Amino acid sequence: MAMIRFENVTKRYRGTKRPALSAVDFEVQAGEFVFLVGASGSGKSTCLRLILREDVPTSGRVAVLGRDLRSLANRKVPYFRRHIGSVFQDFRLLPSKTVHQNVAFSLQVIGASRGFIQQAVPEALALVGLEGKGKRMPHELSGGEQQRVAIARAIVNRPKVLLADEPTGNLDPATSVGIMQLLTRINAGGTTVVMATHEAAFVDQMQRRVIELKNGEMVRDELGGGYGDTSNIPRLTPEAVRGAAAAAALTAVQEVQRETSAVPVLRPDADSGSASQSAAPAAATSAPAASAPAASSPAAPPAAAPVAPTEPHTAAAPPEEPPGVGPRTNPIIIPEVEVAELGVADRLGLSDADDDEEVGPTT
Ligand code: ADP
Repeated sequence: MAMIRFENVTKRYRGTKRPALSAVDFEVQAGEFVFLVGASGSGKSTCLRLILREDVPTSGRVAVLGRDLRSLANRKVPYFRRHIGSVFQDFRLLPSKTVHQNVAFSLQVIGASRGFIQQAVPEALALVGLEGKGKRMPHELSGGEQQRVAIARAIVNRPKVLLADEPTGNLDPATSVGIMQLLTRINAGGTTVVMATHEAAFVDQMQRRVIELKNGEMVRDELGGGYGDTSNIPRLTPEAVRGAAAAAALTAVQEVQRETSAVPVLRPDADSGSASQSAAPAAATSAPAASAPAASSPAAPPAAAPVAPTEPHTAAAPPEEPPGVGPRTNPIIIPEVEVAELGVADRLGLSDADDDEEVGPTT
């Protein structure tokens, strides 16, 4: 199932000559990890805003989670966004709330029960490596830890898609490695991740799908690609440092991939014959990480073992124990939800009685 689909999307902002996006066309399948790259002003944030339905295209069509966003009524946008987590460069934590309260907030606004919140928040904090730090205030944390809180908040509701806009943009290379590792882990749990970034070195090393924008046009869509021409990208960190960090990131990411491939529950192999499989390069690198290459010499493409996209478990799994998900210590796993069920009964057991014909599945 396509999680995100851009069909010939053009976006012109009022009062601007050149479109921010021109005839952009791509599809992201469930379980993919996609880097969105390009110089500042190339249209990356505009893409993310369209996915979140913060804005609408001037022409063309954006479909997310099987929904044509053009026909999504405004009052339904909040329900739709429950299924999408967002992380930003500047963390956007509530400064006067504790870590726990920041993460709990995403659940409170959707009416989750206190009992559920008390269970889900510590779980999410543990997942991001902040176990026991729920009582801290954001200013008592490092930048990397603050970003982990933001990630916990983004995933506590178990979104199907995680959007990350320059999530390492304010972090030093070593800290960024940990964030990349965390995003990889979340992706390995089945969450589709789209990350806009300037971090050429990470993109080069991680060998994931790369969509490159240039002046609003899509100039590249490559599986397992590198960053490409980086001459226009400002570099804030010396090459050697970036290279070392990127090599460390690759090693870290490969560790996560090995680790997750050893947990069978993460890859339900039952009848995973979905058409999306061939198009979903949620590849687990299995190449040895022994000699992590420097950033200047691109790694040989690691042997890719296809990871089966998570298949539908059940449409409306209860939040406490989604069937087939296994031990609760595993990374968050997002059961597939059929299009028709989206917004009707999400995993928190809430219902918005969505039987409105204007919001139907796209074909
Ligand atoms: P990126 O995220 O790659 O830096 P953006 O999507 O933010 O790129 O911007 C793409 C283009 O659209 C830029 O030329 C930018 O100036 C323009 N743009 C972005 N947002 C607006 C807006 N709200 N109004 C007018 N122009 C905008």
